[in-house]
Amino acid sequence: MKKNTFALIQTFKDLIFPRNCFGCESPLNFYEKRLCLSCQIQLPLTSFHFTHKNPLFQKLNLQFETMAATSLFFFQKEGVLSNMIHLFKYKGVKKIGYFLGDWLANCLLESTFFKNIEGIVPVPLHSKKQKSRGYNQAEIIAAALSKKMGVPLYKKVLIRVKNTTALARLGESERKDEVNNAFQIHPSFTLRNQHLLLVDDVLTTGATLSACASVLLKNSDIKLSIAVLACRL
Ligand SMILES: [Zn+2]
Repeated sequence: MKKNTFALIQTFKDLIFPRNCFGCESPLNFYEKRLCLSCQIQLPLTSFHFTHKNPLFQKLNLQFETMAATSLFFFQKEGVLSNMIHLFKYKGVKKIGYFLGDWLANCLLESTFFKNIEGIVPVPLHSKKQKSRGYNQAEIIAAALSKKMGVPLYKKVLIRVKNTTALARLGESERKDEVNNAFQIHPSFTLRNQHLLLVDDVLTTGATLSACASVLLKNSDIKLSIAVLACRL
C-alpha cells in the first residue's frame, strides 16, 4: 500500500516537474532516481576499491608512492559515461559531479583501504581556466567526498602555477613535460604527518596526478591515496 502511494505521488510530481536521466537525458520513471535502468547497467564500474593492489594502484605506484588508489569507472570514449562527464565538465551540469562524487564516497566508505584519510585535496585548475569555466570539476567531486566522509576539504592547498595546454592532445612524455613544475603548495599551508586523498575527474596517463603528488610528497611524512571518477589503464 505504502509503495503504491509513493509511486502515485512520484508519478504526479514527474508530471509537474519532469526529471531527466543524467546519462541519456530521457524522462525518468517514478522508480528511477538519477539514472534510467538502461544507463545504469551500461556504466563500466571498476570495483577497484575492494582490491588493494588493483591495476590503477599498480600503474600509479610506478610513478609515485601511494597508499591506495581507486576509480569509480573505466573511462569510455563514447556512451553514457562519456556523455555524463562531458555534461559535467564542459556544460556546467554540476549536479552530475555531486551525484558521481557521492557515489565514489560510498565506495570509499565501503572499502577498508581508505579508512584513515585526514584531508581531501582536489587537483587544481589554473586560475584563468577556472575563471572561464566557472568552477573546478575536481573540487566538486572532492566537496561531495568531504561531505559524505566527514573529512576536511583542502581546496587551496595546491595551486596550479602553469596554465598547461589541453593534455588530451599530447602523448605520454609530452604530458609529463607539460605538467612538470605546474603545481605548488600554497605558502600559507604546512602539511605534516597527514594522510591525504588526492582527487581528480579523469585519469589518463597519470602525469597530472604524478606532478601533484611529487609536490605533496616533498612534505614530511605525507601519505597519499588517490580517487578519480574514471581511469584509462
Ligand atoms: Zn538514461
